[in-house]
Amino acid sequence: MKPRVVVVGSYVQDLAWKCAVFPKAGETTVAAFKTGPGGKGSNQAIACGRLGTPTLFIGAVGRDAFAGFARSFYASEGIPTRFAVKPRHPTATAAILVDASGQNQIILDLGANLALARADVPTAILRAARVVVAQLESHLGTTAWVLREARKAGATTILNTAPLRADFNPAILRDVDIVVPNEVEFAALVNRIPATAKRNFTEAKLLAMPSPSLHSLCRKIGVPTVIITLGKRGCFVSTERGSLRLAAHKVHAVDTTGAGDAFVGGFASGLANGDSIADAARKGNAVAALSVTKPGTAPSMPTARDLRSFLRGRRKSGRG
Ligand code: ADP
Repeated sequence: MKPRVVVVGSYVQDLAWKCAVFPKAGETTVAAFKTGPGGKGSNQAIACGRLGTPTLFIGAVGRDAFAGFARSFYASEGIPTRFAVKPRHPTATAAILVDASGQNQIILDLGANLALARADVPTAILRAARVVVAQLESHLGTTAWVLREARKAGATTILNTAPLRADFNPAILRDVDIVVPNEVEFAALVNRIPATAKRNFTEAKLLAMPSPSLHSLCRKIGVPTVIITLGKRGCFVSTERGSLRLAAHKVHAVDTTGAGDAFVGGFASGLANGDSIADAARKGNAVAALSVTKPGTAPSMPTARDLRSFLRGRRKSGRG
């Protein structure tokens, strides 16, 4: 089956240690270890694919054991991939230390993701896609090129501006149909884009803004649709036709890591299946709410069945 959604982005092997207290320099601490598949691009592809939307993930890995882990994880999920192998780079890794109070310290090496090249992303694949999704954890030049080629081919392009790196060039937004920042990234974007560069725009200012002012600010970003994810406050959707706030579903949150990725995957799935932007954002909101009720990132993404029963339950209880 031809993929409707193509996600071009990062794979990162998450290596997590749970310890009582963080080790100081020169100290050794014992901890409980777990490893799993991560990376924003990969999490988004898993979120979208698990919903039953034909999805292809394109990323880069090294020639090492973690690349094998990534391939077998995708094989077990039944989601197709094109992993470019970069023998001179390691598969990306994140060392995540979590202490007894739940605080974390993270060391990230984006490794092979930063070597993703144009030749790794066949234009024929972009031409066949309805929706192409990218983030900012891979080679930025290649990412900009992917968005440009996808747009030229008539696909809808989504850019999740995570993480908003120091070397981010706002020119990339020219080829983006829908930009999805979280509140921190939105504040950074406003400060970085010449048309909106207000000095010291902050998350606090964003949260205090009434919808009409926030909508006008979004209109200046230069992207047709801006969706700001607002954590437990839900999201704000600004399109050329108007704006809309969606409240987050009330759920028992146990781990919000990867919530933004779940949102983007759910949103892309909705859009690829013909939903309006508002309905696709509702889908993203529900998929993200479900993902925070389980620990982990990719493993916490719901299936189409999980989503159906969640929404059925909400309708019955009048909370849908
Ligand atoms: P990121 O992980 O990129 O920081 P957010 O924290 O903004 O992203 O969360 C993304 C989406 O996840 C939100 O728009 C919302 O739909 C959902 N979400 C996040 N936290 C919660 C929560 N505590 N309860 C319900 N939904 C949540």
